[in-house]
Amino acid sequence: MARDDLMVKYFGNKDYRTIIALDYPGYKYKGRYCYEHHYIWWKNTGHVVRKNKEEIHHINGDKKDNCFKNLKLMPKNKHFNYHINPVSLIVKLRCPNCGKLFEKPKHRTHLAKSNKSKATFCSRKCAGCRNQFNPLTQKEIEENVIKIYKKKMYE
Ligand SMILES: [Zn+2]
Ligand SMILES: [Zn+2]
Repeated sequence: MARDDLMVKYFGNKDYRTIIALDYPGYKYKGRYCYEHHYIWWKNTGHVVRKNKEEIHHINGDKKDNCFKNLKLMPKNKHFNYHINPVSLIVKLRCPNCGKLFEKPKHRTHLAKSNKSKATFCSRKCAGCRNQFNPLTQKEIEENVIKIYKKKMYE
């Protein structure tokens, strides 16, 4: 929904449309222009996007598509991270000691590049149960990783 009834100009970040919105209660450029996506969000939810704390994400990636359904409010830091790394690799694991099933981000398992361990345990306690006197079997190591999948960080 483009608000073509209102004059479109570009203030602030030039990727985003700004419109004259005298009724907008949040920050206004030159006292009258605000980001169209902030305006649409406010009109639909009653919430004013908090400057430097929150941002509006454009779900389909088109920063000029300000249809309400294409907008999503995000904390500013999460929004930044989302654009750097929208998906993360998750590993489904079986604890080699107790057999419990659990999940962890790949960078926090033995599959991470810097990690020298042979397997990932469900807890420090389980890890502590397996030392040189009670070593992991090849089978336990092989069955540790069940699968690796991609998960969207933020939807
Ligand atoms: Zn975004
Ligand atoms: Zn365990």
